[in-house]
Amino acid sequence: MNRDSAVRAQYLEALGLDRWVPRRPAAGAIPMPRGAAPTAAAPAAAAPEGWDALRAEVAACVKCGLHATRTQTVFGVGHRQAELLVVGEAPGADEDRQGEPFVGRAGQLLNAMLRAMGTPRETVYIANVLKCRPPGNRDPAAEEVRCCQPYLQRQIDLLAPRLMVAVGRIAAQNLLATDTPIGQLRGKLHRYGSRGTPLIVTYHPAYLLRSPGEKRKSWVDLRFVRRELRRLRAGPDLPGAGPDLPGGGPGHPGA
Ligand code: URA
Repeated sequence: MNRDSAVRAQYLEALGLDRWVPRRPAAGAIPMPRGAAPTAAAPAAAAPEGWDALRAEVAACVKCGLHATRTQTVFGVGHRQAELLVVGEAPGADEDRQGEPFVGRAGQLLNAMLRAMGTPRETVYIANVLKCRPPGNRDPAAEEVRCCQPYLQRQIDLLAPRLMVAVGRIAAQNLLATDTPIGQLRGKLHRYGSRGTPLIVTYHPAYLLRSPGEKRKSWVDLRFVRRELRRLRAGPDLPGAGPDLPGGGPGHPGA
C-alpha cells in the first residue's frame, strides 16, 4: 500500500468504512490551495483587508438575538485561497467556546471526511450559515438566517471557491433556498449564486455520528466531491457538464 492509500485507509477507518478497497491506486499528492500552486482558471486572491473588515463586522454583530447568548462569534477558518468551501449549520458549544467552526466531535469526523476526500482541513475554508450558537443547539430560526446570510455571502464572494460542499440539511436547504429533503439533494451537482458555483450536498458529521449506518453513503458523496474537484481543476467549468452521481439515492431527511 503506498503512502496516499495508507492515509486514506486510516481516515476511512475513522469513518467506520475500514473494508473499502480501492479499485485503483489513488492518484497524485494532496493538492495545495490556489495560490500555493498554479491551477487552471483560479481567480485572483481577494485583498486581505476585505476579510479582516468582514471578520471585525461579524465580531461586533448584534443583528439578531443570538448575540446575547454567545460567548463569541465563529467567523470561519481556513485558507483564503482555498478551492473548496465547506458550509455547516451553526456553532455548537465547543465552537462557541473556541471561536472556530467544527472543533468538537463532529469536527473530528469532518476532518476525517476531508482527509478522505484528499483535501485536508488546512487546505479548505470552513464556515457556517450562522456565526453564533443557537442556545441548546436548536435549529437556526429563519430570522437568524436572514440576518446572518449576508456575512456568508461576502465570505463566498471573497473566497470565490471552485466548489462548495454543504454539510447537512440546514446548510443545504438554506444555500439552495429549498425545502427538498437532503436525501434528494445528495448525489447532484447543484449551482450556487450568480457565479453558478458548483455545490455538492452531503450528510452532517453530527448526523453520521448518530447514524453510523449512513457513513457508507457519505463516502459515496466524498468520492463525488473528489471527482468533481479533479474535473474542475482540469478545465473550464461548463454548467451542465458535471454528471450527477449515479445511485445517490434517498437518505434520511433529518441529517
Ligand atoms: N456543526 C456545525 O454545523 N458547525 C460547526 O461549526 C460545528 C458543528
